[in-house]
Amino acid sequence: MVLERAARWMSAVGPAMVGGGYDLEIFTENPDEDLLCSICHGVLRCPVMISCGHNFCRKCILQWLKRQQTCPCCRTEVRGKLYVQMHKLKRKINRLQVKCPNEENGCPALFPLLRSEEHAETCAYGLVTCDNEGCPAEVLRKDAAEHGQSCGYWSEMCHMGCGTLLTPENRDQHNCYMELKETYNKQLHKLRVKARRLESLSTQMCRQIQLLSEGLEGAQASANAQ
Ligand SMILES: [Zn+2]
Ligand SMILES: [Zn+2]
Ligand SMILES: [Zn+2]
Ligand SMILES: [Zn+2]
Ligand SMILES: [Zn+2]
Repeated sequence: MVLERAARWMSAVGPAMVGGGYDLEIFTENPDEDLLCSICHGVLRCPVMISCGHNFCRKCILQWLKRQQTCPCCRTEVRGKLYVQMHKLKRKINRLQVKCPNEENGCPALFPLLRSEEHAETCAYGLVTCDNEGCPAEVLRKDAAEHGQSCGYWSEMCHMGCGTLLTPENRDQHNCYMELKETYNKQLHKLRVKARRLESLSTQMCRQIQLLSEGLEGAQASANAQ
């Protein structure tokens, strides 16, 4: 999945030539001439310098040198070590501002080239395949959750634990007995609490009636005595 996404990203940011430089289109400003590769005409990807002092994308020059041992710019013969990596130049290129390749889908994000992959992983406007098994739909990441819930391939075990596999067809009609049982148990509990309250109330009333009648008897007895 990650590899697939990375491949899609590479084809989005790279020119036709695989492994060549970055397409000029992705940059917010036209990059300086000295950041371009004279083989692929893109912005240097993994820049290296050969013995004459010219810079190229690593893959571009390696492919070139397979056929001839001269610099494609100045025709000087390449001697000694094939190339040296240009770390500082690479860091400079990594800081260049780029547009999101999903700009056409609506993504307004701008970020340094170095953040490209990171952004591609989370871009709300990137295309993702639906998680529901068998669904061939590709949707924008920001719409994926909504699609997943409403898609015809959606299915889920009933969360009440009744063992029913819910699908878009039976989801609305599912009359879950586990749910009924839970509702019944809740009501039963409420009734029990009420019954207990009534019981203690009636005990209290009995006691009060008893006290009252005792009081009355006492009053009557003293009245009779007078
Ligand atoms: Zn190149
Ligand atoms: Zn050269
Ligand atoms: Zn984006
Ligand atoms: Zn789907
Ligand atoms: Zn159920």
